[in-house]
Order: sequence, then C-alpha cells, then structure tokens
Amino acid sequence: MNDPSTMLQAAPPFDVERVRRDFPILGRRVYDKPLVYLDNAATSQKPRSVIDCESHYYEEYNANIHRGLHRLSQEATDAYEAARDYIQRFLNAARREEIVFVRGTTEAINLVAASYGQRLQPGDEILITAMEHHSNIVPWQLLCERSGAALRVVPIDDRGELMPDAFEHRLGRRTRLVAITHLSNALGTINPVKRLIAQAHASGAVVLVDGAQAVPHLKVDVQDLDCDFYAFSGHKIYGPTGIGVLYGKAALLNAMPPWQGGGDMIKQVTFARTTYNDLPYKFEAGTPNIAGGIALGAAMAYLDALGLEHVAAHEHDLLAYATGLATAIPGLRLIGTAADKTGILSFVLDGVHAHDVGTILDLEGVAVRSGHHCAMPVMVHFGVPATVRASFALYNTRHEVDALFAALAKVREVFT
Ligand code: PLP
Repeated sequence: MNDPSTMLQAAPPFDVERVRRDFPILGRRVYDKPLVYLDNAATSQKPRSVIDCESHYYEEYNANIHRGLHRLSQEATDAYEAARDYIQRFLNAARREEIVFVRGTTEAINLVAASYGQRLQPGDEILITAMEHHSNIVPWQLLCERSGAALRVVPIDDRGELMPDAFEHRLGRRTRLVAITHLSNALGTINPVKRLIAQAHASGAVVLVDGAQAVPHLKVDVQDLDCDFYAFSGHKIYGPTGIGVLYGKAALLNAMPPWQGGGDMIKQVTFARTTYNDLPYKFEAGTPNIAGGIALGAAMAYLDALGLEHVAAHEHDLLAYATGLATAIPGLRLIGTAADKTGILSFVLDGVHAHDVGTILDLEGVAVRSGHHCAMPVMVHFGVPATVRASFALYNTRHEVDALFAALAKVREVFT
C-alpha cells in the first residue's frame, strides 16, 4: 500500500463518470447546486487513494524518517523513499538523488535562486518570459539585487505566445540562467521548452523549467527535455499541499551549496566545521512533509493508472468544446489563444469586472478564479486588470462546461 508502484494497474479506457467517483469532494453541493470545480490551476481536488494514503500514514506508521531505528520510523522512511523512486520514474530522471523534496514550485525556484544563484556576478543576465507566474519572477529579481545581475524578459504577442525569434535575440553571452514556464497558468500556452532549452544550452546558459501547470497535463521527461532544473507542486497534480519537487541534474546539484541548514542535511557537525550530506538530503533540511511526500507518490500512481495520454485527450476535448462556446458569446474576449495550449480558458466580459463574474458564478455553484493569477505582467500586456479563468482537470465534463456557460448567461442577465 505504501509503495506507489504497487498501486499501478493497466490503464482502462477513460471513463470520466467512473473517475469522478474517485473524488469524494465532487459529490458536494454549493448553495444547493452541484459543485462545478473549474479552479484546477489554483489547486486540484484529491482522489480517495491520496486521501487514504495520507491518513494511513498518520493512523499506522507516523514517525520521523531517516533517524529512528524503530520499526515505525523504518516504515515511514521506506514509504517516503519509495515515493521519491516513483517520482524519479514519473519524470524519467536518471537518478533518484536528482529528486529533491520541497514545499512546492515556489520553494524549488527560491532554492535554485539562493544556491545556484551564488555563482552570478554583476553583468550576468537571467532570462525569463513575460508570461511567468510571480514565483518565477520575484526570486530572480531578488537574486539580481543580491548579485548585480540583470533580468531580461522575452515578450509575448497578442495570442499569448512568445514573440518569434525574441528568445534567441535575448539570449546572449552573459545569459547565465533561463527560467521559463512550461505551461502558462494565466493563458494556457504551452511553450516549446525542448527547443528553447537546446538554444539556451548552445549559448552556455542553464535552464530551469517551471512545471507547476504542466505536470498534470503533459508527459514530462526531464532527460528528453534536457532541462537542468524542473520545479512543480504536488497540490496541482492531485497530491497534497505543502509538498513539491525540484528535479536537478546531479552534477549541478552536487556543485551547489546548501541553502538551508539544519537536521538531515549534514554528515557531521562540530563547532569548527560541518560537512554536508549527500544528494538529495543536502537540500532537505529539517523534518519534511512526510505524509505529503508519500501521498504525492500515490497521486502520481493514480495519474499513471489512468494513463496521461487519455487524460490529456479528455482535457483537450474540454478546452476545445469550451473555446467553441466562448467564441460564440458576444462581448467575450479570450485572453490567450495560442496554437498550442491546454487546460485553461481565460477571458473577460465586456463591461463586467472579472470579480463580479466570479461572484455570480460562485452563486451558481461554479468555482473559477478571477484576478491576475499571480501574473500581473500578463494582465498589463493584455490591458486588463483581471481575467476570469476556468481551468480543467481530468474529472471535469462537457456537462460542467455547459453549466459554466449557463451561469455566464445569468451574469449577462444581471448586467444588462
Ligand atoms: N508557477 C506557476 C506556473 C503556477 O501556476 C504556480 C501556482 O499557481 C506557481 C508557480 C506557484 O506554485 P506554488 O504556489 O504551489 O508554489
């Protein structure tokens, strides 16, 4: 039960109604209406197997890991490390030491900025894009302040794609680090990261990919991408909050200094000198989110059992269906119309603030996100203060998309 690979079964054909029964919360009613949960880019709901996995830990073998010689501690350590092995396979990382547990994407990016960032010097450059989440902007701004490096930004066009050739033009001799989102949380754009990574490497830069939105929707193979770092959060991939992963190439991680000191990240401590633990523990100071790590393994096993290709096709169908309905609505402007996108329908309605739309949808039982989605530069680019964002997960249905548009018709009634 604690080893995620034992939960893996052959993928059956994708049956969304059967899948929905795995998620207890989807049976909830909100304001006496069935819950239509379309805020998956903010956080996803959890299947029963993940919830059970987490409570099983607390009920049966709650203990600290890596330290105790007693039975419970060994069981907890084994389960936690089995989850790491599973994540390694899920990402096709070459080695288990390359999987560092963190609190989430934000912490993973801050780790790289704090540790790898110590190499940066005045005049060096960090390249990001105009569609990044604040988590992939602000840590680099802080690093620029500390190091004297400069932040450069690849602009986007009116479809929400990177401007053609702009990436290459901004990559320079001084670019040390490229930090780029795999899938934009505000627009749904999928960036051609494999190509961008190859270009960055050719000019000598190291690349971090923000995979927070990509991992639930796209097959990620870190060796095929050849990224140097890949960051994501457990809670967006049907796992718990407070747990996430930084993948890093072993050679880079080995050469990087620790970023937090404490228990577990050391080999030996004296007042004269402390030596650090091997990977990945060098970057895992203090008691981690043990239950979260184990349950993240269970979440990935759940996704694997469904088959990511079936999930991706289903989500693609939902987005295509929703986009078709959206384009037929007068006064609705889609924000983000990239040729390659998934999972996210971001829009504004003429004459109605996104927050008002969100409030009325909520009263209809439809949960969406209204706001800047922690991507303020994207809002500035499109000249809007906020958008309404419906984001899809594997358990959503066309029927729920219909409910969204029926609720939008109510918004129109209220505002005319
Ligand atoms: N990057 C992207 C693209 C995101 O969508 C998010 C969360 O919405 C983050 C980073 C930050 O993730 P977390 O808050 O889990 O650290």
